[in-house]
Amino acid sequence: MKSVQIREHGGYEALQIVDLPKPEAGTGQVVVQIKAAGMNHLDTWVRRGIPGMKLPLPMIPGADGAGIVEQVGAGVSGVQKGDRVFVAAGLSCGRCERCLSGWESLCREFGIIGEHCNGTQAEYALLPAANVLPLPEPLSFEEGAAFPLVFLTAWHMLVARAGVRPGDQVLVHAGGSGVGSAAIQIARLHGARVIATIGSREKIDKVKALGAEEAINYREADFLEEVRRLTGRRGVDIVFDSIGQETWDRSLKALARGGRLVNCGATSGYQGTTDIRYLFSRGLSILGSTMGSRSELLTISRMMAGRQLRPVIDRVLPLEKIAEGHRAMAERTLFGKILLRP
Ligand SMILES: [Zn+2]
Repeated sequence: MKSVQIREHGGYEALQIVDLPKPEAGTGQVVVQIKAAGMNHLDTWVRRGIPGMKLPLPMIPGADGAGIVEQVGAGVSGVQKGDRVFVAAGLSCGRCERCLSGWESLCREFGIIGEHCNGTQAEYALLPAANVLPLPEPLSFEEGAAFPLVFLTAWHMLVARAGVRPGDQVLVHAGGSGVGSAAIQIARLHGARVIATIGSREKIDKVKALGAEEAINYREADFLEEVRRLTGRRGVDIVFDSIGQETWDRSLKALARGGRLVNCGATSGYQGTTDIRYLFSRGLSILGSTMGSRSELLTISRMMAGRQLRPVIDRVLPLEKIAEGHRAMAERTLFGKILLRP
């Protein structure tokens, strides 16, 4: 089968297109014929390597995907050959107190498909049966590969961690990113007012179409000044952040009293500076978040089927053009998700 494979960490040349044997489903596993695979910022870390963390190599990257079940291994129930499915990328033990209370991403054994084991960017993916969920009928394979990881991440951040509620004002950093375009919709769905930051003028209308009331071009204006202006110097209740270092200090200053900064990543670097005086005197909360639960993913897939939430697809590339997708993520010249067609 045709597959992307990373044998050594590095630049775009590390993304090799190779011919691998088609996988066979073992006990508790399924093989899915991938119709569309999603790309995520995580893929760039898997390609480059993560300082201080040893990732298994060689690796087939890709956390998101949708397709048709091709083969079912022994001991699998509830999944059949021919089922339309999407991939739930979280790996966890399923037995510990965290898993059993719906906080799988806090499991000691937590991992992500395409980072800790082979992923979806291939013609076929070998997956634990627990990691495929039914793809609701109205959704295309491309839609099924576009929404899971980013919507789950954004939902868990805003709903489970930051407790978004009607009337909240929410600043969404990188509103044009996969996770940002999900966050705008989820915050709106919960009755919040959304201010989004974007890096180019062409993205203004696009984030407004998703539900942002205001868009700040961070290349032309200081987002902290703009947030103060747009909120009458009050600040926002929630800052939704995946940027990290570059915006950290100003994000904390953009919060209203009692505000929450919720973070799921550090695309600009991971050494943020916190002025602790702001933290205690203004009653701020800093919340970390990673992925979410399968239960949340089922809720999201139902809302996708009902079109209350919509995946945002930037482009679909043939598998061979994967480097173009990595470049677009690095240069932030995308709006929403990039998909690969094996
Ligand atoms: Zn567990």
